[in-house]
Amino acid sequence: MTTTTEAAPETRSFEADVAKLLHLMVHSVYSDKDVFLRELISNAADACEKLRYEGLSDAALLGDDGQPRITVTLDAEARRLTIEDNGIGMSEAELADALGTIARSGTKAFMDKIAGAKDSGDSHLIGQFGVGFYSAFMVADRVEVVSRRAGSDSAASWASDGLGTYTIQPVDTADAPARGTRVLLHLKEDAASYTESYTIERTIKTQSGHVPVPIFLKDAPDAEPKQIADGAALWTKPKSEITAEEYQDFYRSAAGQFDAPALTLHYRAEGLHEYTVLAFVPETKPFDLFDPDRAGRVKLYVRRVFITDEAQILPRYLRFVRGLVDSNDLPLNVSREMIQESPVLAAIQKAVSNRILSELDKLATSDTERYLKIWDTFGPVLKEGLYEDFARRETLLGLARFKSTTSGGAWRSLKDYVADLKDNQTAIYYATGTDLERLATSPQLEGFRARGIEVLLLADQVDSFWVTSGVDYEGKPFKSVTQGLADLSLIPLADGEQPAAAASDAVNDFIAFVKETLGDAVADVRASDRLTESAACLVAPEHGMDRQLEKLLAGAGRLDAAAKPVLEINPRHALVERLSAADAGDADVRADAAHLLFDEARIADGELPVDPRAFSARLMRVLQRGMN
Ligand code: ADP
Repeated sequence: MTTTTEAAPETRSFEADVAKLLHLMVHSVYSDKDVFLRELISNAADACEKLRYEGLSDAALLGDDGQPRITVTLDAEARRLTIEDNGIGMSEAELADALGTIARSGTKAFMDKIAGAKDSGDSHLIGQFGVGFYSAFMVADRVEVVSRRAGSDSAASWASDGLGTYTIQPVDTADAPARGTRVLLHLKEDAASYTESYTIERTIKTQSGHVPVPIFLKDAPDAEPKQIADGAALWTKPKSEITAEEYQDFYRSAAGQFDAPALTLHYRAEGLHEYTVLAFVPETKPFDLFDPDRAGRVKLYVRRVFITDEAQILPRYLRFVRGLVDSNDLPLNVSREMIQESPVLAAIQKAVSNRILSELDKLATSDTERYLKIWDTFGPVLKEGLYEDFARRETLLGLARFKSTTSGGAWRSLKDYVADLKDNQTAIYYATGTDLERLATSPQLEGFRARGIEVLLLADQVDSFWVTSGVDYEGKPFKSVTQGLADLSLIPLADGEQPAAAASDAVNDFIAFVKETLGDAVADVRASDRLTESAACLVAPEHGMDRQLEKLLAGAGRLDAAAKPVLEINPRHALVERLSAADAGDADVRADAAHLLFDEARIADGELPVDPRAFSARLMRVLQRGMN
């Protein structure tokens, strides 16, 4: 675009802050330079929105072109990129004001933030802020802007190479857009990829696919414009006008997913804060669900302009939720850091998190099957909230579902569990482990089974953490079946089971002998309520750490020494009775038996014997004796 005017261009200096900012842009080492496109398109969309608003009171401003439009034109040969809008435009004075000074408080904050950062090599900060128009200088060594304000019969141009000065001059309207602004970037050599149609289309779709103005792309200056974004933000439409398929398409393109949403939540909050929420619970687990670096995936928009996907709108344990929140109240041009501190955002975070949990709760009753699928997929993540989010613990406990010893593979809620408590049962019993099937057959469960007491089988890693965090449900504490005294004596046996006689003196003597023999290896040896079929099992001391959690921590190298377990012996077991008899053999035989009982209990818990060689020597001796 040539500027055919008699007047010589007037050269002006940038305001000091702009010069500083430009210096940073030009020398930016930030790798994600794509953001410049988002900034320029966002400006263009804003200009169209402004005109839309002003046109409400002054229809003449729209003339015969009432359709807002952004056109991006590529010119690979000349290494140029043009972004043109038919929005409100700028007069000569406005050009100088808008592009020669820093009017925005956000940019000011940005400057304060990075004061000194450059010297410490921290200039990548640039990419984390919306720094507006000047970000064009990350990819261009010269930028020319030609603008014509709506309703005006004159046009002006602004040009700069980003090095301290800019020129401004009136231009012939024939060289300017009929209305609005054209921003022409002379791309740097290493930014030539911004003239590739595919790159630009993909970048625009991901960054600006939902700006409220349609976007057209011209592959070359004389090419036909092709529409690449329709300018209709799906979430702004009424729910009744959106089909399930449209929701799914939107979910897929916005989330880059191939599945369908298992739950779609679309609503508009009015009142103190106005915002729209469009959120999806996916059907399948993303591969990085348990990656500690996985961030939340709910995007923040302000008045249909994408701001950030790092606003952490939802707590970590809802990190599988995709979607967006579009706020009407947040200022459009603040940095991410400043947005994080906004009380408006805090209120939105709280309300949206609550709403998602309450929708899940509703679904649990209205469509149990669908809910259980979601729980099956994301339950292990939601359970993190049980120890991370005390304020919502009750709600999360209400959402939680468990497999149990009596559920026959079905999911049970805690409400179900508590409704089926046995007489005198005061705790919610659980067993933790890594494998549901092995858990269900652990010896520690025998006494519970004999009484028909339901035991929750917790096989997710996260279970060991929340369940030991002092949680209770309707006043019932959670109690591990492998910890402390079981004290099941007050709970009646199931029909057909014989009540156990108290341990005889002989058995008690034998138990004392085992304790003496094992010495320091165990915290205690005692008669068990817990066992009906097995001879012995291990449990954690009353105030010790749950054995499963202990194993997890030890496995992660976060535990120096494991606590000693308690060995429980079944006083009614035939072998134990036999070993307790006066003629049970000499002290050596009984000592072998004591060690073997302990090692066998360890093996039943999936552990190795304390000393595998001593164990096999004892086993051999016992077998040989049996052969005689
Ligand atoms: P902002 O965040 O305010 O858009 P920018 O640095 O991106 O900050 O732009 C500064 C100002 O320049 C804008 O506030 C606007 O007044 C003006 N401006 C930029 N681009 C355009 C455009 N395409 N049309 C009209 N005005 C624009």
